Amino acid sequence: MSRLDELSIEEASRRLASREISSRELTEACLARIEVTEPKVGSFLEVTAQLARQQADDADRRLAATGTRTSDTTALTGIPIALKDIFLTKDVRTTCASRILENFIPTFDATVVARLRRAGAVLLGKLNMDEFAMGSSCENSAMQLTRNPWKLDRVPGGSSGGSATCVAAHQALGSFGTDTGGSIRLPAAFCGVAGIKPTYGRVSRYGVIAFASSLDQVGPMASTTRGAALLLQTVAGKDPLDSTSIDAPVPDYAGAIGTAPTVKGLRIGIPREYFVEGLDADVEAAVRAAIGKLQDLGATIVEVTLPHTEYAVATYYIVATAEASSNLGRYDGVRYGRRRGEEQGLRDMYGESREQGFGAEVKRRIMLGTYVLSAGYYDAYYSKAMRVRTLIRRDFEQAFERCDVIATPTAPATAFEIGSRTDDPLKMYLSDILTISVNLAGLPGMSIPCGLDSAGLPIGLQLIGKPLDELTLLRTAAAYEDSCHWHRVSAELKP
Ligand code: GLN
Repeated sequence: MSRLDELSIEEASRRLASREISSRELTEACLARIEVTEPKVGSFLEVTAQLARQQADDADRRLAATGTRTSDTTALTGIPIALKDIFLTKDVRTTCASRILENFIPTFDATVVARLRRAGAVLLGKLNMDEFAMGSSCENSAMQLTRNPWKLDRVPGGSSGGSATCVAAHQALGSFGTDTGGSIRLPAAFCGVAGIKPTYGRVSRYGVIAFASSLDQVGPMASTTRGAALLLQTVAGKDPLDSTSIDAPVPDYAGAIGTAPTVKGLRIGIPREYFVEGLDADVEAAVRAAIGKLQDLGATIVEVTLPHTEYAVATYYIVATAEASSNLGRYDGVRYGRRRGEEQGLRDMYGESREQGFGAEVKRRIMLGTYVLSAGYYDAYYSKAMRVRTLIRRDFEQAFERCDVIATPTAPATAFEIGSRTDDPLKMYLSDILTISVNLAGLPGMSIPCGLDSAGLPIGLQLIGKPLDELTLLRTAAAYEDSCHWHRVSAELKP
């Protein structure tokens, strides 16, 4: 492989450590790639080239000073990555792809960002997304369209669309996104990259703009599972600034995966509710073939059942909108973001700022969420949804008595055409039918590429794990990856 921007994180890290390449060279290769591909793909809301060059030179100094890896360098020192525009970045504009935050420059870093900086990672810029992470296609961005690098008339998936396209188009070696109902796994599947949503609480949400606080979780994307593992272990772990972050040791995931991961003796559960009508035939065939491959590698396949699956989408759209309506109350044009209608007094200023600052989908969610929380409807909707959420969690607890990992398709179909679902919110919501339950149950979930459909678009295999058992997911994914070539097939950026 000759192009530096095509290196996996683990390979780039090895070459940086041995001084075969410099971080500056690697960073320049990514910046050059961004320059050429960005007009087609549109991943970035902002490219922080100057900062990236500075950080790359710093990383090169750190690497040179130590010669070999010591406490001052990490596996991520000098690795160029990019971030969904939902992470607060000190002195770098952070918009959440919303007009209401179009001129917001944070005064501090999210914990994830601070940890990445400390590890020596290089920040290439901020990535496009659905406004406030509400969406499945990136089409709800108030800023720009992002296109799928595999076929430019297709959506990249959402809401972390830019996080997936920048990896698939080799603009960055890795990225971070957030996943509230599938927003890491769906775009990872649509763009043919690896993405993991860890257990709820595994990664700090401090400084991550909130959508639905009981569901939001941060996670990485990369071209390989080992790359994603290195990113995850750098940011995971207890944070005193986020009381929901879990105080449990973070394994050296990449080290534990090792060079020859095995699935021998692993019990993989196949939930029958995830292979139902409406599932695209190419997707089903590829996912079943991947499961067959895991069986050939020594895993045992067991059938499991998740009987409350059919209620997941409805439950999610009550819980998530309720939490969103309360989280988005803070955008009033007073402390930050867009302000309008000042001349007409305070109430009008709030109203005008919100009217002009939020897009249609965000308004829809605020109204829905306010409705389900209002007196008289609370019991019928919100509190009922909370009870169903418990039933969904129990389904998984019972299934995990019979298996160690659950395998399903990540999405019922591959990337759809731009514009084909924007008029029909319900149809759009159904894109997440196979990912949403995982967030409601707080479990770790991952998507890795497992094939291409007849149109040449990537298909994702979803792996779901027990609480805090990201390692088993990563090991299983790496064992599968080692046995196939799907993660090495690259998007061609063709119309
Ligand atoms: N597509 C889902 C939604 O629109 C999930 C989004 C997400 O995970 N952030 O809410």
